[in-house]
Amino acid sequence: MFLHLYGLSDSRFRRLKEHYQTYGICPRIHGNTKRLPENTLSQATVEGVCTFLTNYVEENAISLPGRIPGFKSDDIKVLSSSESKIGVWRVYEAACVASDVRVVSYRKFLQLWDQFHPNVVISKPATDLCFTCQQNTNKLQRAANLSDSEKSECVKAHQDHLNCAQSEREHYRNSCINSENALEPIDTETALDRESHEACSLNVTVHYSFDYAQQVHIPSNPMQPGPIYFKTPRKCGIFGVMCEGLPRQVNFLIDEATSAGKGANTTISYVHYYFEHHGLGETDAQLNADNCSGQNKNNYFLWYFAWRTLMKLHHSITYSFLIAGHTKFAPDHSFGLIKKAFKVMYVSSLYEFARLVETSSTRGLNKAQLVGTHDGRVIVPVYDWSSFLGQYFKKLPNIKKFHHFRFSNENPGKVFYKEFVSSPEQSFMLLKNNAILPPPSILPDIVNPDGLTEERRNYLFRKIRQFCKPGTEDIVAPAP
Ligand SMILES: [Zn+2]
Repeated sequence: MFLHLYGLSDSRFRRLKEHYQTYGICPRIHGNTKRLPENTLSQATVEGVCTFLTNYVEENAISLPGRIPGFKSDDIKVLSSSESKIGVWRVYEAACVASDVRVVSYRKFLQLWDQFHPNVVISKPATDLCFTCQQNTNKLQRAANLSDSEKSECVKAHQDHLNCAQSEREHYRNSCINSENALEPIDTETALDRESHEACSLNVTVHYSFDYAQQVHIPSNPMQPGPIYFKTPRKCGIFGVMCEGLPRQVNFLIDEATSAGKGANTTISYVHYYFEHHGLGETDAQLNADNCSGQNKNNYFLWYFAWRTLMKLHHSITYSFLIAGHTKFAPDHSFGLIKKAFKVMYVSSLYEFARLVETSSTRGLNKAQLVGTHDGRVIVPVYDWSSFLGQYFKKLPNIKKFHHFRFSNENPGKVFYKEFVSSPEQSFMLLKNNAILPPPSILPDIVNPDGLTEERRNYLFRKIRQFCKPGTEDIVAPAP
């Protein structure tokens, strides 16, 4: 009866009695305690997988929100459809073997991937299309249930979208060709070699495109994958400005120590530096930027271009975006060449990386521009454009909807804008007060980069230094 009340079985009662007789009153300890089951992973192994994936994604992911059906979030990272999860696991496995650490099984790897990097997806070949394309295609596939009028509406919507993407692309291509033709009779070598690239000194229209590439890690030794995959080496960002008419792309190499983030102030400052030091000094500029993130299509950039025309640094500027999901343009090609070279060379400093960039194309397509030196000395200053210009300009409402913006010295402070290349043009006065203009030849305050934290310097010295080529240790991971 007693046993029944306490829900104990005969045998359990006997074992308890035995325990009491041996140890007195103290909690019984399970035989497995203090021994982890075989399949439990150590903290270090899990962290290894996590760091590996972080590094892999930083170097290989494309981030194009407009492109991924079903995902609206901006922080979705996409690995190209030529990769597979098993392929990523094999790289991981090789790195583990080379560094003599425990390899987790493919199944466990996938679990950890889902757990720590749920926002990293691999695009399927079919989904390399944009969101609109994908939706339209889906609708058409289910068209059997639709009425004839709905069907033809559906086909028309898709056709319109494709035509639109096509005409925007043609507009971009034509601008590039026109720029090339305009530069043909000019001795561009001499124009580029000039000491100063004085604004409006060349009476032509020149087209430029700019974008960020994925950052790289330094040191990087593709011949010897291994322990470094589980560490966080020194990071280097890349921002490219392409002049298609030459063609020539200047790549800003942004060492971690001189990075001021990827915001509007930084991006505008790089473009500003480009015009001052690498531009052709043309009177009229046409620019294309990537559509996907806020650092390009924002009011600060509009204010900056309005400011340039007010300051007589350009007679006119157009600023255009391709349709999201159909944005492949010239900088992607140049970045591809850099990436290709990077994947087969041991690169162990910012300066080696700069050399790699310059030699990544046999016809000298890619140039390198250091944003700063390894010890944090700034070469390309970042200005606080947003605060400075915010005193004089106001915001254009609904900016996201539009793909083309135009500025001209004939209409100081005004932006002309349209949705698509064939849409009617509207205008908006950006100046808060026509009588109050930004003062000539005054630049905004400089924003200094934070530099490497003490913790980071210590980390580089302790964990990364041993991976550097002899002679480059003090460039990448000096004693803190
Ligand atoms: Zn599309």
